[in-house]
Amino acid sequence: MTLTILNPATEEPIAELEQAGVEETDEAVGRAREAFPAWSAVAPGDRARLLRRLAALVEENLEELARIESRNVGKPISGARGEIGMVAQVFHFYAGAVDKHHGETIPVAGGVAATFREPLGVVGLIVPWNFPANIASWKLGPALACGNTIVLKPAELTPLSAIRLEELCLDAGIPEGVVNVLVGKGSVVGQRLIEHPDVAKIAFTGSTEVGRLVMQGAAGTIKRVTLELGGKSANVVFEDADLEKAAAAAPYSVFDNAGQDCCARSRILVQRSVYDRFLALLVEATRGVKVGDPALEDTEMGPLVSSAHRETVGSFVDRDPYFRGEAPDGPGFWFPCTLVEATNEDRVARDEVFGPVAAVIPFEDEADAIRVANDTPYGLSGSIWTRDGARALRVARATEAGVLSVNANTSVRVQTPFGGFKQSGFGRELGMHALEGYSEVKSVFISTEG
Ligand code: NAD
Repeated sequence: MTLTILNPATEEPIAELEQAGVEETDEAVGRAREAFPAWSAVAPGDRARLLRRLAALVEENLEELARIESRNVGKPISGARGEIGMVAQVFHFYAGAVDKHHGETIPVAGGVAATFREPLGVVGLIVPWNFPANIASWKLGPALACGNTIVLKPAELTPLSAIRLEELCLDAGIPEGVVNVLVGKGSVVGQRLIEHPDVAKIAFTGSTEVGRLVMQGAAGTIKRVTLELGGKSANVVFEDADLEKAAAAAPYSVFDNAGQDCCARSRILVQRSVYDRFLALLVEATRGVKVGDPALEDTEMGPLVSSAHRETVGSFVDRDPYFRGEAPDGPGFWFPCTLVEATNEDRVARDEVFGPVAAVIPFEDEADAIRVANDTPYGLSGSIWTRDGARALRVARATEAGVLSVNANTSVRVQTPFGGFKQSGFGRELGMHALEGYSEVKSVFISTEG
């Protein structure tokens, strides 16, 4: 069965691809298993060199990769360039990490105990459609650095950048069989990877719903699992914040990537004493978001990824919104920037919309802000806007989320751990923490008794 890939901004087909089935999945796992002994034995310096070459090739092909990503996902080209730039940085970082993730010696009676970081073997990487190349690289980098071999399954809607990355891995000199990309259905290829006895670990990014299936399926073989799942993050604005700055930044923290971002601050919590003023500033800032053709340099928001997804997003706007922005007519899965006033009990504030819809919710004081921010099954990210440093730290420590920012809305950096609390998943990507998820600790005791 072939898969037709569409450009979400035009609805035109841009590729026809063969889909892998269970047989092809087993073959790919076989190739990865065969490549593992040699790859895991590559000297650290050489593995680092290969990762550096891959990073350099991504840089050399940045414009091409960015255009692939922009056309396949509907991302504005400027954002796509930034994302591919990060892919290169991720490979540079893990090239440098290869020989810095090591064991320790532990004082014990009768000898020496040493720990080693061993690769897992074949790892299955299952990634979503919202940041296809970026999220693939967050897994590929540490997995390769630790000496694992890989079967990568991109999302059905957006496989094109992963296919190009596989070619660049080969061009960089990473041996055949080390990185295998399989285009196919989650319920077929993904499911087979989860159940395959020769796959040691699944690194999954996607919805909480499918994350649950990954955990269930992995139980059969006690497979290692890391899960990066959904979010419903709060952007908490206190009365003492720089309101102009917070309001100018807020639209981009939820409408970037057309809201299709697990870290989207889709609940904007505003202290009641400044609620009306902030809302007025927020509307003005939202009006300024440039929605349109992703190929244009100054476009800030493109379409949603698919027609079906647009239906789902639309179902969240079940009343007159407080503000609805402009979006192009005609072909393309367009959806305007939308602000709704809500309580934290409303569906729009509880479920992940994954589209450009923000719920604005008032709160009374610091304790109330923390209560509302934590009143969600998710715990991925969030922001705190205040000029009071002690309050910022108190609220950050009390917030049940893995990645927070103060007076900023960023969540992702190559050097820092990224991942969720509660039903946003477990395990950490990026930074040195990610390496924990792609290696086992082995303890070896060496007797020194004569
Ligand atoms: P999804 O869960 O539908 O799909 C993710 C991947 O899983 C795809 O490759 C899909 O083919 C595969 N899949 C689907 N069913 C499967 C099954 N039964 N077995 C194995 N694999 C299966 O998610 P999506 O719609 O592609 O992406 C959106 C979701 O991803 C949102 O919930 C978003 O919050 C989440 N996300 C999380 C992060 C994070 O880092 N926490 C980052 C990006 C996206």
